[in-house]
Amino acid sequence: MNAFMNVEKGNLLFYKAPFFETTGLVTHGFTTRPGGVSEGPYSALNTAFHVGDAIENVRTNRALACEALGIDPEGIVAGSQVHGDRVEVVEYRDKGRGARTLEDCLPDVDALVTAVPGVPLSSYYADCVPIFLLDPARKVVALAHAGWKGTVVKIGRKTVQRMTAGFGTNPGDCLAWIGPSIGSCCYEVDGRVIRLFQKSFAYWAMLTVAASPGKWRLNLWEANRRVLLDAGLLEKNIAVAGACTSCGGDLFFSYRAQGGITGRMASLIMLK
Ligand SMILES: [Zn+2]
Repeated sequence: MNAFMNVEKGNLLFYKAPFFETTGLVTHGFTTRPGGVSEGPYSALNTAFHVGDAIENVRTNRALACEALGIDPEGIVAGSQVHGDRVEVVEYRDKGRGARTLEDCLPDVDALVTAVPGVPLSSYYADCVPIFLLDPARKVVALAHAGWKGTVVKIGRKTVQRMTAGFGTNPGDCLAWIGPSIGSCCYEVDGRVIRLFQKSFAYWAMLTVAASPGKWRLNLWEANRRVLLDAGLLEKNIAVAGACTSCGGDLFFSYRAQGGITGRMASLIMLK
């Protein structure tokens, strides 16, 4: 299975999961930097309000991205992304929460689940791991934001469990795509982070490589893949894009590579 496909729409470039496209059930994508109107560290397609960019530019960029994917930009739903483990089920009445302002998004939420067609879910990234989920049997989609903290608390598994509790999802039916994010090539962490991984993952040693005294490189893609396997997903139904946002050059915003002041890419998914 191909782990990702690049789709160009005008000046924009999206990463997509080929096996999501094949179902015909969703429109989805992970945005990249080219093609937007923002400037400086936010150049060009910054999609997040909270990073210090001009709000009007963010709205324009989101509209460009959404229109290219066939999504209504006024309808997108966002959580506040606090590196926690709260999963929210999104209903029709939530449509547009977080589309126009940061303040209106769903508070204290890092994962979104919906079974409502036409309600687009969104989340925002500069190195953290975007997990896209699609249950083609029950027609349910989800997005989970997994930085190292979300990975430690296994937000991917909690999201799958919420799909099961709310909609009867059988994890064996579920497709998952781990989108572009920081790779183990670039993601160096210290002992404080490693100790939390040791507590949370019996197989933590498989997720880390010693880099230098007191430093390790951490494989968040494999950690989240294992979390999804533990949740009952099948190996053949999980794909890792394998694109590193930190050393991926001009295509990506990277919190690490750009020293903290940077834009965000968006993950977007909507049931048709
Ligand atoms: Zn890298």
